Amino acid sequence: MIGAGTMGNGIAHVFAMKNFEVNLVDVSQQQLEKAMATIAKNLDRQVAKNVITEEDKKNILSRITTHSDVAKGVADADLVVEAATENVELKLKIFSQLDAAAKADAILATNTSSISITKVAAATKRADKIIGMHFMNPVPVMKLVEVIRGFSTSNETTSKIMELSKQLDKVPVEVNDYPGFVANRILMPMINEAIYSLYENVAGVEEIDTVMKLGMAHPMGPLQLADFIGLDVCLAILRVLHEGFGNPKYAPCPLLVNMVMAGNLGAKSGQGFYKYKAASKDLVVAAAFKK
Ligand code: NAD
Repeated sequence: MIGAGTMGNGIAHVFAMKNFEVNLVDVSQQQLEKAMATIAKNLDRQVAKNVITEEDKKNILSRITTHSDVAKGVADADLVVEAATENVELKLKIFSQLDAAAKADAILATNTSSISITKVAAATKRADKIIGMHFMNPVPVMKLVEVIRGFSTSNETTSKIMELSKQLDKVPVEVNDYPGFVANRILMPMINEAIYSLYENVAGVEEIDTVMKLGMAHPMGPLQLADFIGLDVCLAILRVLHEGFGNPKYAPCPLLVNMVMAGNLGAKSGQGFYKYKAASKDLVVAAAFKK
């Protein structure tokens, strides 16, 4: 597992729960320690709910080893899942490193939300073994894995990853490699439209979210969801869609652009469309925008 952030710790958690040996790799020692603490805390919750026993928790944690060296971490792996920071140059560099360090028959998967699998594959000499394995946050809870076939991904690689996702108790869905894949191609324009509705003063933050929650049975309104995903992340994905399709319908709303420039990134910065106490996702204090 490359990257021990929000997604990396969740992915390591689900693999270790299903008896896989996991090498968790990150450039930051602090992130590795934080990830192990998060996994332990999330396992405690599962113990409290009687999903696993205290003994299971110990065994699961013992299957995860942390590493700060990519080459050492992946040397024996049959599968590498990359969930490092969403930055195309970084991913290309990591994949060329992985290609050199991993076994010749290892599958290299990326959890990217929006970067082209085909482009990532072109940084390696094993394009047939490169695939998107797009887990949803929080990984231990969310059932979906969007399995993305790059232009050269083989049938064999795809069927192995579909099967493996089922072994993890997830529901895999196979999609092709076009900007935003399926999840973000549909989700991000909805979020952008909600932001446009606010920008054009059609309604306020809470009103827009209430319409979508009560009218469409969404568990969370699109503006709050955008705050949770991170407004910088939403903007980056919309830019990939806009550039990738060359279609103005994906142009990010100027309000979103301004909020990101101002550092209002959502829950993680304490301020997005809502205000969050101490940058916590749990405590929505008040809507930041009123009509
Ligand atoms: P994050 O910022 O929480 O974690 C990224 C981690 O990568 C950090 O710990 C960082 O130290 C590490 N890292 C950076 N460079 C590295 C390198 N060269 N080698 C090893 N580790 C390195 O990010 P995240 O939210 O976990 O996202 C990770 C990936 O998952 C991104 O591609 C993102 O688009 C995707 N994703 C995120 C979500 C989400 O809701 N957060 C959902 C689906 C997919």
